[in-house]
Amino acid sequence: MADYDVAIIGGGLNGTSMARDAAGRGLRVILLEQGDLGSGASQASPRLVHGDLAGLERRRFFRVRRALRERDVMLRIAPHLVRPMRFALPAHAEERPPWQLRSLLLLYERLASRSGLPRSATLDVTHHPVGNALKRPFGTAFEYSDCVVDDSRLVVLTAVDAAARGADIRTGARVTRAERGETWRLVAIDRGYRRVITARSLVNATGAWTASVADTVLRVPAPQLATVQISQIVVRRLFDCNNVYVFQNPDGQLIFASPYERDYTLIGSVSHPFKGDPAIVAMGVREVAYLCDAANRYFREQIAPADALRTISGANSVVASARRRDGAALLDYRRGKAPLLTVFGGDVTTSRRRAERAVSEFTRFYPMTPRWTATVPLPGGEFAWQRFETEVDIARDRWRFLGEAQARRLVAAYGLNVKDVLGDAREKADLGPAFGTELTGAEVRYLMRKEWARFPDDVLWRRSKLGLTMPQADRDALAAFMAKAD
Ligand SMILES: Cc1cc2nc3c(=O)[nH]c(=O)nc-3n(C[C@H](O)[C@H](O)[C@H](O)COP(=O)(O)OP(=O)(O)OC[C@H]3O[C@@H](n4cnc5c(N)ncnc54)[C@H](O)[C@@H]3O)c2cc1C
Repeated sequence: MADYDVAIIGGGLNGTSMARDAAGRGLRVILLEQGDLGSGASQASPRLVHGDLAGLERRRFFRVRRALRERDVMLRIAPHLVRPMRFALPAHAEERPPWQLRSLLLLYERLASRSGLPRSATLDVTHHPVGNALKRPFGTAFEYSDCVVDDSRLVVLTAVDAAARGADIRTGARVTRAERGETWRLVAIDRGYRRVITARSLVNATGAWTASVADTVLRVPAPQLATVQISQIVVRRLFDCNNVYVFQNPDGQLIFASPYERDYTLIGSVSHPFKGDPAIVAMGVREVAYLCDAANRYFREQIAPADALRTISGANSVVASARRRDGAALLDYRRGKAPLLTVFGGDVTTSRRRAERAVSEFTRFYPMTPRWTATVPLPGGEFAWQRFETEVDIARDRWRFLGEAQARRLVAAYGLNVKDVLGDAREKADLGPAFGTELTGAEVRYLMRKEWARFPDDVLWRRSKLGLTMPQADRDALAAFMAKAD
């Protein structure tokens, strides 16, 4: 008998979402990720959970409605990670006329039906805080509701839930060979050790590596895929209000500028075909300049490429022949050969549903319990999204040493499980050594024990964004602490 029902290669959002879904439906699951969870494209998404206004313009009404429904599902199951925001779309005389923007938003809202989010509004930005950061000519903007998400924490908490339901999550485990018979026999280098695993079916969820894994590891015909890179930049905070700005670029692209970790602004995104090693995806100078120019067209405060404090890039596979960038799940099944499912691309908003549909492909091979992920919260998310601020207040009341910003960060990252991070601490000193102003030994230990963090970058960039502010001396201390705690 095989060790597992399903082996999943790749610990991005697609792989972890499938692991969660399949484990919860009673399958024995192993997920193998060569690096850290979410270290590929899944940490470089535009961080939007939305119906996609641009899709509406392309008349993809059903797709937009589906995504809007998923937006509501994500808000329900991950109220700590997914934040409703007001998006501001300034009207520009040379771009889409105001009546067109207004009709687009009315249609968007109709498709969203009963989301419970505030409705759209027309703003006179000459008298509204949204206008403070904008250049003079803008008189009108439209405001509507959508959501943003912490993408890499979504990956990690999805894996945490998969593990809680019995999935075996292995990070630092690269699959190097897979033999296909009636079952799959995989060889992995698992934290330096060679390990052989057998599974009744295999999922290739390796993102930009999909074709090369098919070709060199699985040795099956690789699907015809293209690789596309997506990039964003982080700059100092360009505006005070808590809105996401959506700008119309003259080339028709919608560019967003979003509040990022209190003191920063995230501007994105730009995408283009990618060639090369997906492990090294860097943003070009021209793309940085493109995003700066887009922001400069709207904001008073001007930025230059040198102001980009960080660039965020990822690459993923798309179907070569299709102009659409939807995700895809391709099932390969032949008599006497164990099934292979290849899953790649797609956006964050629809990742849960994509995984649900992909795992359902296996119902023809073995029995499993019904779909379940639309109604069960991710770890720590057992509260209504409208109660987020209340949960922050409750945390501050219980751990009185927490400042407001720190409490907000912790509740956003761990939800109700913040109690497992802080325990019975009565003062900050009870949490062990401090790294920078916010990170404590207790949190790092929790991340190492419960969330597979192994190296400082796992903590500083994927399980938090504290890398933006942490001084080098504290990073060094963190590295020494993690090496000792390992
Ligand atoms: C061009 C582009 C546009 C995008 N647009 C959007 C958008 O509009 N909205 C949105 O929400 N998101 C968007 N995304 C991002 C989206 O978040 C990701 O594509 C999504 O998270 C799915 O990622 P994944 O799991 O398929 O791949 P990844 O996150 O890259 O995961 C694949 C994983 O496989 C691992 N792996 C590879 N080979 C092996 C091996 N041999 N053994 C073990 N592990 C291995 C890698 O280390 C990696 O972690 C876009 C991405 C791109 C590239």
